[in-house]
Amino acid sequence: MGVSSNESLANLLKEERRFAPPAELAAAANVTAEDYKKAAADRLEFWAAKARRLTWDIAPTETLDWSNPPFAKWFADGKLNVAYNCVDRHVEAGHGDRVALHFEGEPGDSRTVTYAELRDEVSRAANALTELGVKAGDRVAIYLPMIPEAVIAMLACARIGAPHSVVFGGFSADALATRIADADARVVITADGGYRRGKPSALKPAVDEALTRPGTEEVRSVLVVRRTGQETAWTEGRDVWWHDVVPRQSEQHTPQAFDAEHPLFILYTSGTTGKPKGILHTTGGYLTQASYTHHAVFDLKPETDVYWCTADIGWVTGHSYIVYGPLSNGATQVLYEGTPDTPHQGRWWEIIQKYRVSILYTAPTAIRTCMKWGEDVPAKFDLSSLRLLGSVGEPINPEAWIWYRKHIGADRTPIVDTWWQTETGAIMISPLPGVTTTKPGSAQNPLPGISATVIDDEGNEVPNGSGGYLVLTEPWPSMLRTIWGDDQRYLDTYWSRFENRYFAGDGAKKDDDGDIWLLGRVDDVMLVSGHNISTTEVESALVSHPKVAEAAVVGASDPTTGQAIAAFVILRGSATEEEGLAEELRAHVAKELGPIAKPKRILPVAELPKTRSGKIMRRLLRDVAENRQLGDVTTLTDSTVMELIQSKLPAAPSED
Ligand code: ATP
Ligand code: MG
Repeated sequence: MGVSSNESLANLLKEERRFAPPAELAAAANVTAEDYKKAAADRLEFWAAKARRLTWDIAPTETLDWSNPPFAKWFADGKLNVAYNCVDRHVEAGHGDRVALHFEGEPGDSRTVTYAELRDEVSRAANALTELGVKAGDRVAIYLPMIPEAVIAMLACARIGAPHSVVFGGFSADALATRIADADARVVITADGGYRRGKPSALKPAVDEALTRPGTEEVRSVLVVRRTGQETAWTEGRDVWWHDVVPRQSEQHTPQAFDAEHPLFILYTSGTTGKPKGILHTTGGYLTQASYTHHAVFDLKPETDVYWCTADIGWVTGHSYIVYGPLSNGATQVLYEGTPDTPHQGRWWEIIQKYRVSILYTAPTAIRTCMKWGEDVPAKFDLSSLRLLGSVGEPINPEAWIWYRKHIGADRTPIVDTWWQTETGAIMISPLPGVTTTKPGSAQNPLPGISATVIDDEGNEVPNGSGGYLVLTEPWPSMLRTIWGDDQRYLDTYWSRFENRYFAGDGAKKDDDGDIWLLGRVDDVMLVSGHNISTTEVESALVSHPKVAEAAVVGASDPTTGQAIAAFVILRGSATEEEGLAEELRAHVAKELGPIAKPKRILPVAELPKTRSGKIMRRLLRDVAENRQLGDVTTLTDSTVMELIQSKLPAAPSED
């Protein structure tokens, strides 16, 4: 993007450019402003009505039991089967021929799975797990690439009431071992490997190694999908091929109804702020909110839309917005195995063109990467099928938001910036595409039925135009029930800072209209000469400079100012590390945000430390900037990145 379009961006923002919902979308929207009214009038009745979107074996008469806060029970006397809700009921309603999954493998192989086929496969897999001795309540670890069996395995577990713990396929044997041990899993479902960056990448050796570690002794079976056909070591009596046991099972399986509070899954957080936490989600409340929010925020029309969420199944986004939300709503979706730049940087756009994808849900980190590669890449493909775009995972910089809308959404599609966490289970704060007039960079309003606000240190709600801590003030159906095996950590982490309110760990501000802007994690907020400065705002100012593609900003302790701002920047494709660049960027930030926010040091780097889900790990940059030993790095993508950055650091700080 050249300087001129960047100037126009600045103008857009100065005029506070807003985007009203397209009239056509608003006229046919799944959810209108009526839902805000209904929820405001009677929040619990609102959620009870949303629970009725699901099919229950025994309909709940209770909505919320909050008699022992913060341990919530939702719909506690109801019973249902999650897999039945995601699969069988659509077949019974006559939609068996509808495509559930358009699978696209990285090497270019593809496979279509209809709802009828999905029902048969999930039933067979459920029968196979039962044959392997898995019973309701037993934990199953899933360590798979992005292939249909990942979805089938999760649903098979849900069908028999065995909580799954999905571990991202890019994690090491160590990370897998600690998660298997923590959840005390009995069975591991994996594959020989998957395709990554044009070649087979083995998975099974990491399982073999993990199972030599203490705490994993209870694993009695490893069910292995053949995906790549690569050589695989085999432990007789423990390892079984998926193709040996699953296809020979009956496709008849009667789903059993489970209590609404039966555990559905354990999932570990990304580890951006420290050691990952095993978040426990249960059945009825989780599915109610995952399903409703998917219907409301993505406005899914199951007959005509083709939906694609690019997250990995190993993250909560993959759980709620690939598996449980979309499938409970009967969606047709794309499932892609590989990386966005294999075999070329236009792979995603090619997939959208091929399947006529109409709804795309991705992360700011991916959008910024595409910005770095340049807009001529997507321009080569027909993206006219798109009608709605979503973002999740980090605050989306206004610059990236505008780029996404313009170069992917043809300046036509609404963007929903969705704030939520592994802990919240489902989207909490987001525009509604047929209702909300959007502002680039803001997640805007709590969804109907959700109570969120911003408070100060004393716990008082801040007025419009001020910042503070994001809190959730009422329990919600898909909330975490605890941290697996550690109720005390659950209390300490989320419920001890402010009485009766869930502390999300994120900073936020309310603008003059009361709309919410996420400002990054509170641990990352910088205190410079007595002023609180958010990392997000300084990063967005840097990214709005034409030479900067990505930025990560931290406050490092400084004898004179308390904290001094250090900025790590990745330059755009054509920009070089020429002299005067640091000064230019510092001046740019001063102009955008004021002199106080001017970084003291600017360090151009080739890569930033990110979690496997693509989030910047500022705490590691802070460790480096303050010469400390690095904290937990188990969820870091590439540890050599930190060495490269460390080697850059002794550079003398530039003058003020
Ligand atoms: P850990 O809790 O272990 O540090 P994590 O918080 O990165 O890891 P996730 O649950 O995957 O783990 O991420 C949730 C966090 O991601 C939120 O708390 C928030 O900081 C950030 N986030 C997600 N969506 C948005 C969004 N739309 N805008 C701003 N931030 C977001
Ligand atoms: Mg978190």
